[in-house]
Amino acid sequence: MDGKGHDTGDRIGGGGYRVEDYIHRDEDTFRKKFPANMSGNDVNGLDVQTKGPPQPFFWHPADRQPFGELQQAVIGHHRQAPEIAHTYSRDADRGPRPVPISDNIEQADAAEWTRRIKAFGPDNESDLIGLTPVRPEYIYEGYEISHPWLVIIGVAMDYDLLSTAPNTIEDVRAATEVADKYNQAARAARKLANYILASGYEAKTFPGPMATALNMLPAAIEAGLGELGKHGSLINRTYGSSFRLSAVSTNMPLVADARDEFGADEFCASCRVCETACPPKAIHSRKKTVRGNHKWYVDFDKCIPYFGETFGCALCLAVCPWSRPGVAPRLAEKLARREARKSAT
Ligand code: SF4
Ligand code: SF4
Repeated sequence: MDGKGHDTGDRIGGGGYRVEDYIHRDEDTFRKKFPANMSGNDVNGLDVQTKGPPQPFFWHPADRQPFGELQQAVIGHHRQAPEIAHTYSRDADRGPRPVPISDNIEQADAAEWTRRIKAFGPDNESDLIGLTPVRPEYIYEGYEISHPWLVIIGVAMDYDLLSTAPNTIEDVRAATEVADKYNQAARAARKLANYILASGYEAKTFPGPMATALNMLPAAIEAGLGELGKHGSLINRTYGSSFRLSAVSTNMPLVADARDEFGADEFCASCRVCETACPPKAIHSRKKTVRGNHKWYVDFDKCIPYFGETFGCALCLAVCPWSRPGVAPRLAEKLARREARKSAT
């Protein structure tokens, strides 16, 4: 979705292709859709030593990024599965319509608004909420975010469904669960935005899976939703990697959360589960430099053909030990105890 309209508007794959063009495609079909002599890793800024804004990339409108044809092929392939097509359709519930901004600005200080926003989440489909100021490095080149604050929302996925990954045309339960949770995250963002608007402040939603201005992962890390894992997704201390994100920007005064560093980054350095499980071997064993940041990185060019063929793959999220229900909190505690022992000696 391009995020410009109502949240129940465009969906993944909104037009421009024929499903029959993508039936029986294999990974090579997706490889052939790469623009000539272009690597997605270059667009992502792999091995670029200087800091700079992210470039609009996959999951951006096809005419605003260089991999539009490949993206349409991936989306078209997804939509061969009726369950996925239905979950991303206009019939899916992506939340209420936006309400007008109230003329009455309700007065409260930043600490009180922060308390209210966090209290609003659990009764309104958000499982996680974190707050961070907007920073230039979260904004894709050519876009802008006019508000000073971001509320990042996390929605837990059903692990049993996630663990059926990778999908096949006969079994798309994991992909359908991903789509379903994107819809829930969109509803959660819209409900929160409406609450903010009704309180007299501006609000704009950033639902997935299509992106617009906001590069979600670095903002979510700063908002305390988790650490970046070797598989290129977040690891949260409660849900592991079994959750999806959305966001709301606002001019409501808020208090920033701190990063939550509980040992996942260090754990990844000695764990190879996702690296070994990834069929196209797209997960690097060591951190890479990406736009001046030293971080875990997944090779786009290797991942995406398999990702396309398997309706969104997600195998690396499913096999990550942190994702198994109940494991993440115990593991985080164990790592904290180990850290405390190290500091005491
Ligand atoms: S989504 Fe699949 S192909 Fe891509 S990195 Fe994860 S396991 Fe590998
Ligand atoms: S599977 Fe292991 S290495 Fe991969 S993200 Fe999870 S903890 Fe890190």
